[in-house]
Amino acid sequence: MSTIDDLPPLRQVIATHGLSARKSLGQNFLLDLNLTAKIARQAGDLTGTDVLEIGPGPGGLTRGLLSEGARKVLAIEKDARCLPALAQIADRYPGQLQVIEGDALQIDPLAHLTPPIRVAANLPYNVGTELLVRWLTPPSWPPYWQSLTLMFQREVAERIVAQPGSKAYGRLAVLSQWRTDVRIALSLPPEAFTPPPKVSSAVVHLTALPAPRFDADADVLSRVVAKAFNQRRKMLRAALKGLTPDIEDRLHAAGISPTTRAEQVSVEEFCALARAVAHA
Ligand code: SAM
Repeated sequence: MSTIDDLPPLRQVIATHGLSARKSLGQNFLLDLNLTAKIARQAGDLTGTDVLEIGPGPGGLTRGLLSEGARKVLAIEKDARCLPALAQIADRYPGQLQVIEGDALQIDPLAHLTPPIRVAANLPYNVGTELLVRWLTPPSWPPYWQSLTLMFQREVAERIVAQPGSKAYGRLAVLSQWRTDVRIALSLPPEAFTPPPKVSSAVVHLTALPAPRFDADADVLSRVVAKAFNQRRKMLRAALKGLTPDIEDRLHAAGISPTTRAEQVSVEEFCALARAVAHA
């Protein structure tokens, strides 16, 4: 028995189902159920809430989310080897855990979820950043989810909360802070995982704002910001060359000096630039 439910401890689950961690799937498992329950608590009050979990693996965070009172967890997992372990959890929480086998980048979960909806995940960082950008850039706002509680490499977490003028400030900071409140909720050392990764990790919590902080089209803002930071050491007039033929005029219209570098441009200014580019 474990500390948070009457299911077997995760080490036993992994041994029973032969879930040796696969590097190709970014598998670093959390086996301490007190810790997974603590992460689940960072997601906010889960009672009466559906939770979308990406990459449940052997189910440590899934069990945390359910023990913290989630109405339902919809879990999307790419590794079929994990399904029997997840089925055991589904038996323990009848009607509350639905598992979909597949790649989260290819699956639209919405049909299986009822609002209010929160998202929680401990994912390989490349899949995590790709999903984060997708969650942040739907054409209309507010999104279907109230909050995202996501594990990242510490360095990626710092990029999400970074302020202008810092090295970590870039596309992830602008897109995240444009439409959400962001905070680092927890820091975790490599030893929290099995096997331990090379670097530290952190849980980032993003709360969707009712409306974006500043008006801008998500697609245009994404393009502008990606291009600006692609050559972050260059002045904006050079970095953004090719975006529109009259980029210097657009920068002036947005109140930004063409000799500024992307690192110095606030979220508000990037949104003004996206509007100026869209109206060009
Ligand atoms: N949530 C578990 C935990 O905290 O112990 C597992 C975390 S492990 C870092 C990442 C999990 O995501 C693995 O179970 C892996 O198989 C799964 N995964 C990797 N890529 C995925 C994808 N594209 N779609 C869905 N699941 C994926």
